[in-house]
Amino acid sequence: MERVNIVWFRRDIRLKDNRALEAALAGGLRVLPLFIFDTVILDQLPSREDKRVSFIHKALTNLNSDISALTGIKDSLLCLHGRPAEAFELLLNSLGTDNSDNSANSVNSVNSIAGVYCGDDYEPYALERDKEVAALLQAKGIGLHKIKDHVILSPREVLKTDGNPYTIYTPYSKLWRATLAGDRENLLKSASLPALAGRILPAAENFNSIPGLADIGFNECESPDARWSPDFSIIDNYGKTRDYPAIENGTTGIGVHLRFGTVSVREVAAIALEHNDTWLGEIIWREFFQQIIFNFPHSATSSFKRQYDLIEWRNDETEIERWMAGETGYPLVDAGMRELNTTGHMHNRVRMVVASFLTKHLLVDWRIGEAYFASKLLDYDLASNVGNWQWAAGSGCDAAPYFRVFNPTEQARKFDPAGRYITRWVPELQSKPMVDHKFARDRALATYARALKG
Ligand SMILES: Cc1cc2nc3c(=O)[nH]c(=O)nc-3n(C[C@H](O)[C@H](O)[C@H](O)COP(=O)(O)OP(=O)(O)OC[C@H]3O[C@@H](n4cnc5c(N)ncnc54)[C@H](O)[C@@H]3O)c2cc1C
Repeated sequence: MERVNIVWFRRDIRLKDNRALEAALAGGLRVLPLFIFDTVILDQLPSREDKRVSFIHKALTNLNSDISALTGIKDSLLCLHGRPAEAFELLLNSLGTDNSDNSANSVNSVNSIAGVYCGDDYEPYALERDKEVAALLQAKGIGLHKIKDHVILSPREVLKTDGNPYTIYTPYSKLWRATLAGDRENLLKSASLPALAGRILPAAENFNSIPGLADIGFNECESPDARWSPDFSIIDNYGKTRDYPAIENGTTGIGVHLRFGTVSVREVAAIALEHNDTWLGEIIWREFFQQIIFNFPHSATSSFKRQYDLIEWRNDETEIERWMAGETGYPLVDAGMRELNTTGHMHNRVRMVVASFLTKHLLVDWRIGEAYFASKLLDYDLASNVGNWQWAAGSGCDAAPYFRVFNPTEQARKFDPAGRYITRWVPELQSKPMVDHKFARDRALATYARALKG
């Protein structure tokens, strides 16, 4: 009989610089690595072909083989499939009751979990899930230890002098930078990786290691490589290239890796500090929105500025479908939507244009656009997606003023002057725009003004 710790991987599917793993190993106990395919999340996905699920599967395979390379154990990553609280219940019951197999390396020889360690997560659903799991564990005397991992500074670490959270990016980013500068060594320090040999418990025979995608109800589909390595030619030129969607690799494509933790944000921030301050600013935007969703959870589902919930959205079904399909007649909007539908990615500049078009030109509730992006984006992250959609709709904190309505034709002229991005995605002859820009702009301004005048 042995007491062990569990490390529960969620947004940190990697071995290198993993703070939850470091904490789990610190006490000297052996560690059981765990991943749960969360059916609360998976059941909501609209398609059984989901690039994110394929990506996660690859990342888990990498993680398992990285552990294997250090321990010599073929399968050590234990994978469960279900609601996390139920998965833990099952696991605890099995660990606690079946002592028939006395092999020193089997989960069944363990009847005591000392603690469960995981990376902290600030989204409303994650907080609710963790609360439920913590209560369940607590009832058995086991602690759930949530360790800061996927951000440099947590939502309560960068606050105004009165203790309230920031709602404006610029002062937030100034204090973020000052806080990092004041404690750089500690904040960017890589988690240590002690020799893992003899420290990791193999997945037990009567539990699965990584299931096939089909076993959890998904088909394999194309997804990016689940390992990230920096391309300095992109990072060094980021400030010059990032606004032009026609430039292949004008941005880094790191979003999906930051989302699932196949790279450590500390490694990324250290590179940004050395190489490109503009790029560091983007990493800070990510943390800004993480703290917004944590400190203002209502903004996940309603307007950050409450008055914007009074806007009379048109939500015309046919128009929404044309936007989704990339058939609005505005070439830059259509190119962006087709890029998204085909690849699971859309260039940031174009995301801003399509989001503005949906909310302002078509007067569609930003939540409809947010949900569509959520169903498609490889790098989908609730905090960043909601934050940016509300920015585009004007309803968010520190948003563009509502009367600033992007002109999609002007945006194309400015950011895709040779039309190379557009022709890549919209090869056919251009059709008539579904709505006139000036008419749509005036309608948006009148509608917004009606809602906001009160
Ligand atoms: C309507 C809309 C929805 C968006 N939804 C998401 C989303 O679901 N997930 C997401 O990660 N980003 C989102 N973004 C922000 C941005 O478009 C993407 O982060 C970026 O396009 C990813 O490209 P990249 O991986 O090449 O990262 P790079 O351009 O190389 O940037 C590096 C990283 O910085 C962060 N970052 C960059 N821009 C932003 C930003 N505006 N807000 C927050 N973080 C940023 C991201 O983590 C990004 O991966 C959205 C933007 C808009 C306008």
